[in-house]
Amino acid sequence: MKVSKSPWLLHYDGSSCNGCDIEVLACLTPVYDVERFGVINTGNPKHADIFLITGGINEQNKPVVQQLYSQMPSPKVVVAVGICACNGGIFKECYNIIGGVDTIIPVDIYVPGCAARPEAIIDGVVKAVALLDKKREERAARKKEEKMQAKQEGGAK
Ligand code: SF4
Repeated sequence: MKVSKSPWLLHYDGSSCNGCDIEVLACLTPVYDVERFGVINTGNPKHADIFLITGGINEQNKPVVQQLYSQMPSPKVVVAVGICACNGGIFKECYNIIGGVDTIIPVDIYVPGCAARPEAIIDGVVKAVALLDKKREERAARKKEEKMQAKQEGGAK
């Protein structure tokens, strides 16, 4: 797989039981080594391209997730890790759970499992990297088209 730029990843623990987060951390260790795909873990949403979320959405983390998402530059990809992030999981019926991440922001990749296994998380991240590159290419093509259109309109005057 060839990518145009190393993607930076922001990991956020929603209302996870921490089971999925331990598996996310395992992906960063030399055993699974997600960095071999050029992915770098960052704590700054303004530097991040991939938003990886564990746990479901509740009233407390809802504004945080929305704010982190809005601070990330476009194009960006959201990965929901674990069944709680996918649809609320075993906490779905709890009084304080709104549901999965896609109840408040668009999710591109769903990684199932309870807890999600490192292999599945890495598979999700690799898919996210490919999707991010596709979104970047589409955006570049759109910008080029807009530029050409503006040039043509300018020439017609
Ligand atoms: S999917 Fe399972 S391990 Fe992951 S946060 Fe939910 S309950 Fe915990």
